[in-house]
Amino acid sequence: MNMPETLRPLTMALSKGRIFEETLPLLKAAGIEISEHPEQSRKLIIATSNPALRLIIVRASDVPTYVEYGAADLGIAGKDVLLEHAAQHPGGLYQPIDLNIARCRLSVAVRKGFDYDAAVKQGARLRVATKYTQAAREHFAAKGVHVDLIKLYGSMELAPLVGLADAIVDLVSTGNTLKANDLVAVEDIMPISSRLVVNRAALKTRHAELQPLLDAFEQASRARAAA
Ligand code: AMP
Repeated sequence: MNMPETLRPLTMALSKGRIFEETLPLLKAAGIEISEHPEQSRKLIIATSNPALRLIIVRASDVPTYVEYGAADLGIAGKDVLLEHAAQHPGGLYQPIDLNIARCRLSVAVRKGFDYDAAVKQGARLRVATKYTQAAREHFAAKGVHVDLIKLYGSMELAPLVGLADAIVDLVSTGNTLKANDLVAVEDIMPISSRLVVNRAALKTRHAELQPLLDAFEQASRARAAA
């Protein structure tokens, strides 16, 4: 039997890695400490110092799904992930706060030596490999560039090196991964950061518990942006 809604702690979905690490100081600023770190434990449900809040560890691209279906009341996901999710589930999530964490950019990159501008000017049909098919489709459509999109789930940088694609659309942070693979960014599509997302029903039914947390996150992210 499911726990009655009022007894279940608020559940926040997070992914391991950069988002988790950059969320920890925000939780701390809200007075919340975690019971154990997901990198040191295999547990997928993590208690916090606030008995009314627990964290669940999910894959980044699954965060919007857990929140939309209400298995998590709130979560943190990159704009990249949210854009792809929204294409399938428009308006499913409430996105009150840009937390300004895990910042990077979504860019087009090609092999060093590939003349991207000339290919675009000539109206060549480009093969583009990406995990972000929605954002890529909109970007190239707006530019009037014809592309064949190839959906990949990881290691996009490999695609131009082995002839799978002419270009990739991927997240770029330091640029080190592109450099290590002899690729260069030729176009920035948009800046990316992570946002808080909230289940629309929970926003109403658990408003009293959620609001202090949303306020604390908002304050902590504002302080971070001003720093
Ligand atoms: P970098 O070498 O620092 O430019 O990072 C690029 C690699 O890290 C690529 O494989 C990206 O997909 C991944 N990456 C960079 N920033 C982020 C982010 N904010 N969220 C998720 N993946 C990222």
